[in-house]
Amino acid sequence: MAVFITDTCINCGACEPECPNQAIYEPGVEWSMAEGTILSGMVTLLNGQEVDAEEMQAPLSDEFYFIVPDKCTECKGFHEEEQCIAFCPVPDCIIPDPDHPDTEDELLARQAFLHG
Ligand code: SF4
Ligand code: SF4
Repeated sequence: MAVFITDTCINCGACEPECPNQAIYEPGVEWSMAEGTILSGMVTLLNGQEVDAEEMQAPLSDEFYFIVPDKCTECKGFHEEEQCIAFCPVPDCIIPDPDHPDTEDELLARQAFLHG
């Protein structure tokens, strides 16, 4: 499943540069599917949603760093473990997201979709 950042985040920024999918953003920052991926123009996400990959989207949190679920692959295809969790100094700050219970196959399919 994707992972998400809880309200124990101290906004240190250590996780952001470690994400191979550019799925992590500073609080209050707009994001897009295109950043850090091969996506461009109109794309259909694996969940069926159609989006403009370059369109800037509203931040998912104004208080804490946040992870875009559609860009998180649990680091599958890149690393053996979730890099954001490995680099976060706060224990259990980043945890599995029960609202996005992806299987390993789904995570690998997402990785292929994002990076070709
Ligand atoms: S688990 Fe990996 S892909 Fe997902 S947000 Fe963390 S660093 Fe990025
Ligand atoms: S590394 Fe942890 S504490 Fe630092 S910004 Fe990321 S989630 Fe927050």
